[in-house]
Amino acid sequence: MADLPRRYRLRMQTRTLPGRRLAGVEIRLDLSILVLVALVAWAFTGLFRADHDLLVALVMAGVGSVLVVLTTLAHELGHALEARFRGMQVEGITLLLFGGVTELHAEDQSARDELAVAAVGPWISLVCAAVFGLLSTFADDALPAAVAGPVAQVAGVLGWWNLILAVFNLVPGAPLDGGRVLRALLWMLTGDRLRALRISVRAGQLLGVVLIAVGVATLVRGGPQASLVTAALALSGVFLIRAAATELRQAELNAVLEGRRVVDLLALPPVPLPAEQPLAELDRERVVNGGDLHAVHQDTDLVGVVERDALLGAGEGPQWPPDARLAELAEPLDAVPEVTLTDDLHTLIDAFQGDHHVVRIVREGRTIGAVTEREIARAIARLRRDGKR
Ligand SMILES: [Zn+2]
Repeated sequence: MADLPRRYRLRMQTRTLPGRRLAGVEIRLDLSILVLVALVAWAFTGLFRADHDLLVALVMAGVGSVLVVLTTLAHELGHALEARFRGMQVEGITLLLFGGVTELHAEDQSARDELAVAAVGPWISLVCAAVFGLLSTFADDALPAAVAGPVAQVAGVLGWWNLILAVFNLVPGAPLDGGRVLRALLWMLTGDRLRALRISVRAGQLLGVVLIAVGVATLVRGGPQASLVTAALALSGVFLIRAAATELRQAELNAVLEGRRVVDLLALPPVPLPAEQPLAELDRERVVNGGDLHAVHQDTDLVGVVERDALLGAGEGPQWPPDARLAELAEPLDAVPEVTLTDDLHTLIDAFQGDHHVVRIVREGRTIGAVTEREIARAIARLRRDGKR
């Protein structure tokens, strides 16, 4: 598979538990969320064990870790609903070890929209922190004495958790919410969306490096007992650096695709070969020199396409009997997705979804050409290089 970056590649490539819908938004639970729940429950049990029986401490830790997941979900749901309110397409929310990810398609949004969508998550975490803080403070007055203590303690921890979540997320480095806020503000100030993004991505990568450095320093000063903290910090740092780089690639791709149409990328028409051509008699040299794609013709009609690699492989493998014809190897035209010359490049890239390597180009109902995924990746790389000059 060529390295054509796709819009949908943002989707987590991990195993998820069966999804559910909440307020019309699909919620997916990545299996790694179980690790988060286990870690939080373990830490909470240790914390509550000091003042309570083991059983009470376990119940408190269980309730606390479920509330951690629910408040994380509230934060992400805030992003998702604000985005939908502003006309963006929301793909869904994935909850995972590092918290949550909300996927949305935001090609036409303004800097104001971006600012609102980014800021609402930390805002909800702050509201959660305030609610739990109040509950913790007034539990003694409002609740029977038997439950007031444990409720106040769990609420107190949740209050701090949400406060830390809000503050950490507001650190101005992409892909944290604070990075998106920074990007939106820079975009408003400079009017240059891509430059604003580049700055916020660099800030995010710097933050990742700082996290890793703090992790290493913790290990040096704290000894082996600190190794869990070190691992958590280093993992978060690596995650941030990688996520920031992905975000930059995605945005640069979008900048290249913006305003361009299929016709701007159209490669040379594929080399024609007759459908009756016996595979055994293929002129290998002609195939090698003939480009990525070959058009298969029946008389004068285009009936299918075949990729060069498939052709060359066919000459060697034992799977083709000596009398096999090219028609058997070709992908029939109606199995190949189509775009028109005037479609935009997002549509073209989306057409490769579902493991298609070839897309044909149609004008007034007639197929006039076809492009491979690799050709598109090369063409986009060329556009990028030209754009940087
Ligand atoms: Zn957020």
